[in-house]
Formats: sequence, structure tokens, C-alpha cells
Amino acid sequence: MPIVEFSNLNKYGNIRTRRFWKEKSNLSINPSGFGPFISYRLFKYDYEGHVAPGIVKLGGKTYIVPSWQEVLPETRLEDINWIKPKIKKKAETVVVETPSSKGDKMYKTRFYPDTGNYTCSCPGVWMSNNNCKHIKKLRNEQEGK
Ligand SMILES: [Zn+2]
Repeated sequence: MPIVEFSNLNKYGNIRTRRFWKEKSNLSINPSGFGPFISYRLFKYDYEGHVAPGIVKLGGKTYIVPSWQEVLPETRLEDINWIKPKIKKKAETVVVETPSSKGDKMYKTRFYPDTGNYTCSCPGVWMSNNNCKHIKKLRNEQEGK
């Protein structure tokens, strides 16, 4: 826990925040010239990415890679809060097959959860303004869930 974030009021009454690296974990720092103490807390750098973060020193500066976020020179991997992005899974399309009344065809009725749209391959869908009996049935099932 070596990085602490220290907030205090400056002489204008504005909150200033500084980050310090501390070798020890005791919370007894009291930097001079800082005005009234407000708070400090342990600090971690947020890093978001699919690959594990690393630390690179380059040209006298220290960065988290691969995001190339500049950090305090003493930053260690433990000071990085690795946020793994959630992979957005596309919702599966619901497909229901219904034989036609003559039994010679299969009508496919689909529901797209991402958009909330329904489609049907039966001829009645045009007459019913996209609200044929198959779509009505499927919609009842979906909304009943
Ligand atoms: Zn239909």
C-alpha cells in the first residue's frame, strides 16, 4: 500500500489532491506546507485492458503499459487496479419454427433481443403489419418470461 492520495485545503479554500509514494504503510505523514488536513486514502491506478498491465520506465518517466498512462516513478504492479473489460455477448436470436396449415412449409418466426424486433416468414406477416399469429404467440412467450 505505498501510494496514498492526500487531499487538503489550500489557502484559497480549494481542495488539492496530491499523490505520494510511501515505503511504509503507516498513515502518519504530515507534509509541511499543506494547509488544513482533509483526508488521505490509499490510491491505485486504474488500468483497463484485456492484457495484464506492466510497468515501463522510459526517458526518466514511468508508465503503465499498454495504456501508456504516466504514473509515479515508484509505482509497482500492486498499485495498479486492473479492470478487465467485459466482453459484451450478443443476445441469441430466438427462432421458432411452425408448420404451415397445409403442412408443406415451415415458417420461421424470429425474435431479436438486442433490438426487440420480431420477424416471420409466413405470408400473413405482410397483411398483419408484422403482427401475425406466430409473432403474437412468440411475443406472448417472450413477454411472459
Ligand atoms: Zn407468421
